[in-house]
Amino acid sequence: TTFNDLGLAEPILKALAAEGYTSPTPIQAQGIPAIMSGADVLGLAQTGTGKTASFVLPLLNRIVAQNTRPEPKTCGALILAPTRELAAQIADSIRAYGQKVRHSATVVVGGVRPFPQVRNMARGVDILVATPGRLIDHMQGGAIRLDQTTTVVLDEADHMLDLGFLPAIRQILASLPRDRQTVLLSATMPKPIRALAEDFLNNPQEIAV
Ligand code: AMP
Repeated sequence: TTFNDLGLAEPILKALAAEGYTSPTPIQAQGIPAIMSGADVLGLAQTGTGKTASFVLPLLNRIVAQNTRPEPKTCGALILAPTRELAAQIADSIRAYGQKVRHSATVVVGGVRPFPQVRNMARGVDILVATPGRLIDHMQGGAIRLDQTTTVVLDEADHMLDLGFLPAIRQILASLPRDRQTVLLSATMPKPIRALAEDFLNNPQEIAV
């Protein structure tokens, strides 16, 4: 498989070439078509496998195809991550792969002042990368609502479980439209993560690499 075969738009292919990527990794070869199809996806994936691009590229591809702007205080896609560091890495990947795509993305994490985040979400964002606790704070404060969000990605779900984020994740998932796409990635599948997938994913395509 090549990135070309996956049906990604030209500006994304150009960015991948600029990054020096020649062919998709196994999780990308499986995950990109699955996510592009609109299906829910349950992926068993370790770090270092290229898992970030497997969900970022389909999100960017949809932005190219749709060419619509988000409403104020909403996000088209939401990526939940366990830590600030991972959220920042995901945002770096969005910037790299989306360097030739007109899009907006912002990061909302704990431990830093909330107001700049409020301002960054005011006009609406295509892709919001967030840690669960701070996202809930912003939802409660009225800075963001999730009723326009069509895709949610839970990255490193087992790590979020370990950090005690499961109640926050369940609250966030319950605030999303019922008709949406859910992607759950985890390096391990402990019972609470299986249960989360059963409760919130609809007939998921399962991927393991
Ligand atoms: P990740 O598992 O998403 O943290 O990615 C691990 C590393 O692999 C990152 O440094 C990426 O830049 C790199 N990477 C991801 N996909 C590819 C690819 N298809 N070809 C070459 N490098 C890649």
